[in-house]
Amino acid sequence: MSANPEAVLNAELDIETVRADFPILHQEVNGRTLAYLDNAASAQRPRQVIDAVSHYYSSDHANVHRGVHTLSQRATDAFEGARAKVRRFINAGSDKEIVWTRGTTEAINLVAQSWGRTHLGEGDEVLITWLEHHANIVPWQIVCEQTGARLVVTPMDDTGQIRLDEFERLLGPKTRMVALGHVSNALGTVNPVRDVVAMAKARDVPVLLDGAQAVPHMAVDVQDLDCDFYAFSGHKMFGPTGIGVLYGRESMLAEMPPWQGGGDMILAVSFDGTVYNELPWKFEAGTPNIAGAVGLGAAVDYLDGIGMSNIANREASLLAHATRVLEEVPGLRIIGTAPGKAAVISFILEGIHPHDIGTIVDHEGIAIRTGHHCAMPIMEHFGVPATARASFAFYNTEEEADRLAQALLKVREMFA
Ligand code: PLP
Repeated sequence: MSANPEAVLNAELDIETVRADFPILHQEVNGRTLAYLDNAASAQRPRQVIDAVSHYYSSDHANVHRGVHTLSQRATDAFEGARAKVRRFINAGSDKEIVWTRGTTEAINLVAQSWGRTHLGEGDEVLITWLEHHANIVPWQIVCEQTGARLVVTPMDDTGQIRLDEFERLLGPKTRMVALGHVSNALGTVNPVRDVVAMAKARDVPVLLDGAQAVPHMAVDVQDLDCDFYAFSGHKMFGPTGIGVLYGRESMLAEMPPWQGGGDMILAVSFDGTVYNELPWKFEAGTPNIAGAVGLGAAVDYLDGIGMSNIANREASLLAHATRVLEEVPGLRIIGTAPGKAAVISFILEGIHPHDIGTIVDHEGIAIRTGHHCAMPIMEHFGVPATARASFAFYNTEEEADRLAQALLKVREMFA
């Protein structure tokens, strides 16, 4: 199930071999070869993931955990096997710490509701940053409303980096939780999460990291990061949609109440009360997304086969190239210029609405995203309603970045 080993040549990726794994990339859109540069919204799946899901449905599907028959046991093995793969991939200490969710959004809501409703009270503070995706803002706003707690926001500077000095100042005696993105989807900023965790730990404050944009692009080791929660989504890391992961430190998850009730999350039910299941199933009520988990396990195998450091190196050189060619487009301004960014370029073209840019480059077969990227406060900071965003994965090429730059020159001509 892993990527072709020949794809890894002298610690560099053989792009053509890798691209051959992704059937969707080999098509024409509007008469041009597709250039898919919308990976931060959702990445594409290699045939290894598609085959794993198809094989599961063709051969192994039944409901998990409750059956003694062979198919149910096979489905359970595949489902729990995928959990073990994810645990290894992010170096969690135990499978008990890997909770399946629908994605990052659900994982953060789980923590906000289960941990938050238990631990937050009037006047307590949840400290986030200006750089968050709405998925790491709104669940905290909801639980703040429910408990009387307050959301406190660390400001950022004009390169799109959080102000660590301000963070340290805002981390006060009332802070009960720190929640921040590992990598910004809107700007590509890689946040100084080690410093943040160290500061929070020094004050005994737990930390949740939103890893949706980090896990697909760099090696993540949750024990090394020393965070308490880490959330991410399958569809951004070349796996299926509708599946994601909450990593939770076992000691934290153990004392948290379930957030949804139903089948599978119980050991015994009577009308007098219910005994909840052990970790991680206590947090997995109802029939789970079994095929999604199996597909995510295959995605992890695939990424392991290529090597996360090869992916990170490849994307760093793609980003450098794309930044250079886009900066040559007259009137183009890159929004988010932090050093050491992930391969995301948000930009505006003077006098042209981002939606027009997105529509016109689509005619050239180039898929980019335009809008607020579920990060409206970031747009507000930079005084723009929206940006155009090109986001790269290891299967993208320099030539695709060049095509985008050329298409943007055409956009300018059309609006001249
Ligand atoms: N956090 C970040 C940084 C994201 O980029 C996204 C999706 O774009 C999310 C959270 C939400 O992920 P999902 O929609 O898969 O739950």
